[in-house]
Amino acid sequence: MSGAGFILAINLFVAGLFALAFVLVGANSRTDKVAYWFAAAYGCVIVYLGCEFIQPTQPYPKPIYMLGFVAFYMTLAAGVVGVALRFRRPVPWGGMGLLLALALGANWVGYDMGRDSGFRNFAYQLPYATLQAMAAWQVLRSGRRKTFDLAILAILALGSLQFFSKPFVAAWTGGTGDSAQSYIATTYALYSQSMGAVLQVAMGLLMLTLLARDMLVEITMRSETDPLSGLYNRRGFEQRVEAGLASMRRGGLPVALVVCDLDHFKSVNDTYGHEMGDRVIATFAGILKRMAADRMTVARVGGEEFSIFMPGSNAAGARLFAEGVRSAFSATQVDGLPQWKRCTASFGVAEWTSEESVSDLRRRADAALYAAKRNGRDRVRLAEPALDAMPQHPYPNIATGA
Ligand code: GH3
Ligand code: MG
Ligand code: MG
Repeated sequence: MSGAGFILAINLFVAGLFALAFVLVGANSRTDKVAYWFAAAYGCVIVYLGCEFIQPTQPYPKPIYMLGFVAFYMTLAAGVVGVALRFRRPVPWGGMGLLLALALGANWVGYDMGRDSGFRNFAYQLPYATLQAMAAWQVLRSGRRKTFDLAILAILALGSLQFFSKPFVAAWTGGTGDSAQSYIATTYALYSQSMGAVLQVAMGLLMLTLLARDMLVEITMRSETDPLSGLYNRRGFEQRVEAGLASMRRGGLPVALVVCDLDHFKSVNDTYGHEMGDRVIATFAGILKRMAADRMTVARVGGEEFSIFMPGSNAAGARLFAEGVRSAFSATQVDGLPQWKRCTASFGVAEWTSEESVSDLRRRADAALYAAKRNGRDRVRLAEPALDAMPQHPYPNIATGA
């Protein structure tokens, strides 16, 4: 087997591995099916390489030549679709269809011009160069500039240049062989197959890593989100509060916490059913989402208990926000409940004082919430000031004399 033939065999094996890997990623991602497009791309590589193997054995190779061309066109086109979907760009179906029609005509004519015809080589490689450029364009237009995005952009641009360079390389290295049989022994075939291998592996590895990372982000998001309300759950809330508090502490800005609990919720469940109860929870969550600013973290931390972390707000601002939510909710007629029925919620508000721990802050807000409940519900209560908000170290420290 010649050097190029050997690389071709390895390419076949590598394409199979990548196709399998992308199928696995696609099967394990619940929302994102981009990976299947890359699996299809590598599947088409297998068909294309099969054509390259069979072509030398054919007495009349033109049909296999055309099939090989289309299979590799499909490889790169599936890549364009995958990249467009991953980077949230419209898929250029029309452009790719038109290009395929033109390329089919040009290759049909070009094939009969003989192996060393420049037209034939350009007709074969230019559509590929264009498809890779289309994919690179999707990344460029997406505006994403993280390391991974730039690496993918670079590989796609290189791929495009590589296809564009091939007709020239063929001319410089003495052509693509006299026949399909002798192609595989040419320097050109060695260049073409090894460049193809490098780009196929680089692109495959980059996309696999990117999609695996997307999957990890998706799983983390799901584990931190409450499906009924679409808000953060307790875990997501606590993580964001820790991070938010640390940055507020550095900036010296005020921070407030609002906790709330729906009033007499057990009776809503008992009277109208659990499903109706769920709808009330979702309605309340919708009001919170609508009224909260982007900088706030809103969470459903328990059955019908919610918390709002408000960086940059003091007690007065947080109280105003809580009052707004309270009155909006008590005026809302929940779909499915009788006209006269109104649901309410009670709120506790606490402003964070430096040196206070998150759990102390939450305890004060909770105490305020229970005070609101005790005082008749459907109201907002401010927390007692924190102990360490009082003058600190009023007496000298006897042990150190400080
Ligand atoms: P209070 O005004 O004192 O808060 O009275 P309450 O009846 O609301 O009392 P409590 O807060 O203890 O009630 C919580 C009830 O919420 C108990 C539970 O059945 C119900 N609940 C918890 N999670 C869910 C849920 O996901 N869906 C529904 N429908 N009900 C839930
Ligand atoms: Mg409760
Ligand atoms: Mg309650």
